Amino acid sequence: MSRNLKGEVIVLKSTRLQEFHKLVHLLSPTIGVIQAIAHGAYKGKGKLGATTELFTCSTAYLYYDPVKKSYKITEMEPLSFFDSIRTDLTRFYTASLMAEVVLKSYGGGEGYDQVYRLLKDSLTVLDSAAPPERVEIQYLWRLVGLLGFRPNTESCSSCGRSFPGGARYRRGGEELLCEECAESLSEGIEEESVALSAGSLRYLAHTEALSLRESAAIGLERRSELDLLAFLHGLIQEIVEAPLLSLQAGPASLGKGAPRRSRMEGRPAQTPPRVRTEASGTRGEPEGGPSPE
Ligand SMILES: [Zn+2]
Repeated sequence: MSRNLKGEVIVLKSTRLQEFHKLVHLLSPTIGVIQAIAHGAYKGKGKLGATTELFTCSTAYLYYDPVKKSYKITEMEPLSFFDSIRTDLTRFYTASLMAEVVLKSYGGGEGYDQVYRLLKDSLTVLDSAAPPERVEIQYLWRLVGLLGFRPNTESCSSCGRSFPGGARYRRGGEELLCEECAESLSEGIEEESVALSAGSLRYLAHTEALSLRESAAIGLERRSELDLLAFLHGLIQEIVEAPLLSLQAGPASLGKGAPRRSRMEGRPAQTPPRVRTEASGTRGEPEGGPSPE
């Protein structure tokens, strides 16, 4: 492996390391999710400070130490800071959720080049005036497709009947059911489920062929938006087999007392999920993740 690497990256997470250094999780379209150290990023004039901020997209110059098996950031040439995301709390949390899902799915297993493109597109559209909820729906729906977990939106996964009047998603599941099957499966169990209207299902099917920006411009009723988000949040957490911290910390649940950005940093390390991929499964861990010690 070449010791010096150059390529585009997006910062998914950043954590203070000792007094002045920063440990960043990066998504690269060619090597997936990696951890790298930005030495001196917290020093007053450290030039790596701004370019290693969350969500920043840059051309990174990395040095790989094969003995320590760790990456060091030599230089970052910023391509986009996504400033509108940083100054809008809702957009910021949407981006946080996007990044967290990438981390928890290990950059999409083998498909990290596609996940990279999806994340970059989504951040770009989220950085515009597009409604953040719709960008989030599009991002999550496309991501579950890339991960190979997209449920059938045309017919019930249990009885095979089509969904003329909408479908139901039961929490803890990865499929959509018709009303009858959802009801019979839930008999005697108090559990939450989400009803998706026929219009919501049509929206998913219709937007599939469109670009993310075009999709985000298509009108959707508020009720449908919320139902689709509830469904996709449930589904993605099943897929990555972990609760999403961004959902617990988001502005929707915290209202006015939403935390400042510093709280986003220094989160506990992510544990590897068992994302099902068709590949040989050699990517049990991200390459070269150095330990912070
Ligand atoms: Zn059914």
